[in-house]
Amino acid sequence: MPKSPSLKNFRRIVIKVGSSLLVDSAAGRIKRAWLTSLAEDIAQLHKDKRDVLVVSSGSIALGRAVLKLPAGPLKLEESQAAAAVGQIALARTWSEVLGAHDITAGQVLVTLSDTEERRRYLNARSTINRLLKWRAVPVINENDTVATTEIRFGDNDRLGARVATMVSADLLILLSDIDGLYDKPPGPNRDARLIPLVERITPEIEAMAGVSHSATARGGMITKIEAAKIATTAGTHMVIAPGHVKNPVGSIGKGGVCTWFMTPANPVTSRKKWIAGSLEPRGTLLIDAGAVAALRRGKSLLAAGVTRIEGQFGRGDAVLIRGPDGAEIGRGLIGYDADEAQAIRGKGSSDILTILGAGGRAEMIHRDDLVLG
Ligand code: GLU
Repeated sequence: MPKSPSLKNFRRIVIKVGSSLLVDSAAGRIKRAWLTSLAEDIAQLHKDKRDVLVVSSGSIALGRAVLKLPAGPLKLEESQAAAAVGQIALARTWSEVLGAHDITAGQVLVTLSDTEERRRYLNARSTINRLLKWRAVPVINENDTVATTEIRFGDNDRLGARVATMVSADLLILLSDIDGLYDKPPGPNRDARLIPLVERITPEIEAMAGVSHSATARGGMITKIEAAKIATTAGTHMVIAPGHVKNPVGSIGKGGVCTWFMTPANPVTSRKKWIAGSLEPRGTLLIDAGAVAALRRGKSLLAAGVTRIEGQFGRGDAVLIRGPDGAEIGRGLIGYDADEAQAIRGKGSSDILTILGAGGRAEMIHRDDLVLG
């Protein structure tokens, strides 16, 4: 069996933290000592120049505690109102524990549609990428107060996987009250064996997933396997690890119990495959020789190098890129609607600022969204 990978091999890591780890429901408060130890792990990765993102559950559980709501199921609007209360405390806590290591936290609340609709997807991704560039740690949760049943993720395991693929993370760590994947439910079966490494999610692996018994966590093993499928098909490795220990991420690095789900692909390559293969181009950009050379050097496509634009497309649509002789150079996801793209074609950054105002970017297509033919 191949060896489990070492944490050192990853440059962009999403850590998903389950509600039951963060919130002591009986005492009605955050498990501060534990969270402080996780913050130490994050600070270590951050110091080692890794990009770290946190997907944190706990808004509903914490809101329940603050509001002193009785145990038992909540109606949708009650959960949402509890989340409104809990999210404030959650964000403040993250900001404090990371702040103790001089790390800035940035709260990002998303809904399912933000990760599905291409325009919003690009916006969410740009915001998160900018936070990472500033070396802040994005702390992400579902926007529980506005999402209706149909547009909810409902569980943060899948949200974590979507976020990880959205930012081309190479690792997603799911910390919960579960140690990893067992070949049968470990509670009733004393001989259940932990599977350290899953190379491919087969029907047998899916059959091993049981149901969570924890009161606060909605995500059982089934949603974790779903998350593993989303992550590994998009080129992100995933690991399920026990969160209840102190320094839970550090423990994975030291070979503690956990289950790795390996991806055969690399995140950027699989995204690029998706851009190259599965999207219908909605327009064409003609670019000058200088821009062709820049793209070949791995740069983004700047508005300044675009000489002609054809087609009606929206931000996030796929477009063809042609060189001065009309030959296809590649494809990419355009960062502007067609009319804006027309307005800034051939222009430099300062003109773009005048034409589009703040928020106007010189890149028409970011290099991560570009595939050369
Ligand atoms: N978004 C929910 C919360 O923060 C939790 C979903 C989950 O536990 O997976 O309370």
